[in-house]
Parts: sequence; C-alpha cells; structure tokens
Amino acid sequence: MRRHEQAQTGENLIYYSFDLFEPFPQVPCVISTRLGGVSEGYLRSLNLSFRVGDEEQSVITNRSRFYTAVGIEAEAIVAQAQLVHGTHIAMVTSQSPCGVQHKFAETDGLVTNVPNRALFIPVADCAAVAFFDPKQRVIAMIHAGWKGVIGRIVQKMISTMNEAYGSNPSDILVSVSPSIGPCCYEVREDLVAVFTTAFPTQAHSFFLWQADGTIHLDMWAAIRWQLQESAIQDEHIEISSICTACHTDLFYSHRTEKGKTGRFGGLAVLH
Ligand SMILES: [Zn+2]
Repeated sequence: MRRHEQAQTGENLIYYSFDLFEPFPQVPCVISTRLGGVSEGYLRSLNLSFRVGDEEQSVITNRSRFYTAVGIEAEAIVAQAQLVHGTHIAMVTSQSPCGVQHKFAETDGLVTNVPNRALFIPVADCAAVAFFDPKQRVIAMIHAGWKGVIGRIVQKMISTMNEAYGSNPSDILVSVSPSIGPCCYEVREDLVAVFTTAFPTQAHSFFLWQADGTIHLDMWAAIRWQLQESAIQDEHIEISSICTACHTDLFYSHRTEKGKTGRFGGLAVLH
C-alpha cells in the first residue's frame, strides 16, 4: 500500500492506495484511516459510519473530507450498511440510489460496471476486499469477516462478476484492506470446528496454536486461499498485512477497543 497525506486545517487526513491499482489511475481504490476528521472521544477522528453513535453532522463532514481528498463526488457514493455479516451481494446500476447520506441496507458486497458509482464498505477489523476487472471494466467490494468467509463470499463475488459481467477470474485484481491479523485474532476452539466443517482439507492452515494455549485465526490466509480456489492469479492479489488491532493509532479496531469505536472504509470507483 501507499500512504497519502492530505494537508488541511488541523490534523492531516491520511489514506492509503494499493500498488496493484497504480497502473489504473482511472480506478481509484483507497482505504481511509481514522486520521483527519472531526469526531471526538473514542470515535476520534475520521469515523465514516452513522451506526456507531456518532453525531450525524460529524459523519457527513468526515465523509465529505475523505471523498474530497480522494477526488470523488459525494453524490456518487453508494454506501453499504454492514448489517448482514453474511454473503449477500447487491448489483449497483445507474438507477441505484446514492449520495453522502445513503445507506445500502442489508448487503455484504457491492458490484458494478457503471462509472461514477463509488462503492464504499465500512469496516473495523473485518476486511474490505476490492475487486477490479480491467478487461470488462467491473469493480466490486465486499465486507469479509469470518462469517462471510465461511459462506464463501469471496468466491461468490468472483462468480457474480463472471456470470453477470463476463469477467474472467484470470483478469481480476484483488486487494485486501488492513484488518485484524493472525497476531491478534484470538478465537474460541469451537470456531476451528466450524471452519473444519466448511473447509475440511484446508482449515488447519488458517489457525495458529500459540504457546500459551490460545488459538489465533489467520483471515488473510483464508481469504488468499479462497481467491486461489477461484483461479485468481497470485500476482493479482495484494494483501495489506496491516493489523488493525495492532494499529489503533491509524485504524479503528472493534476488538481492541471493545466495540466502542468507529469505522474506516474501502472505496472503489470506475471513472
Ligand atoms: Zn495484530
């Protein structure tokens, strides 16, 4: 990832882009941080979610600052509500509602081939995974937590791109946002059984048994494996490998901050 800093009055606004998308400047795909906004207290400062107890006007100001910094019109935003923690995917058309205050309810993924419809996915520990097919000119973004991974949301999005837009998996580029890493993602033993039932031959490689007896989940390994299963080329995958739980100075972490936190997000748009 590449770090960008937008000078403004007060704290500078920091966001990241992916090296993978550098050859395609017409397709901004960026990740916000928590720096550069106006939210206060545990939401400090660039919280982008209306659903975490923030002042509505603060969120609107934060979103506007972020969109302006990355050069996207606020009216082009198709937001996502992050309610389902499942595998529902919504196809965004030129008729889909959008705007800075819009919430696209009950979905974990957005996909479109319509220019100037920015897909926005808020996260804090879960991964925002972006997809881009430069041949068919299709973009997509999903919210991937462990439930989505169990439901194979990664493969489901690639199948949707293939079936609805004619995308060939060998052309699709995929980036994975900062999210909770194997260093910090302690899970209960029963989750190992859930993964083993879903992925009998592979699940063992997603878990790390620590010397102190705890078990950690490596979501990055699970997402990478699902991408490989869908015939995405290794050189077409960029995983940021930045752990949100280790970096609450830069990102929100639902787990480290015990639920009292905001949301940063992934944003992708076709121009
Ligand atoms: Zn960590």
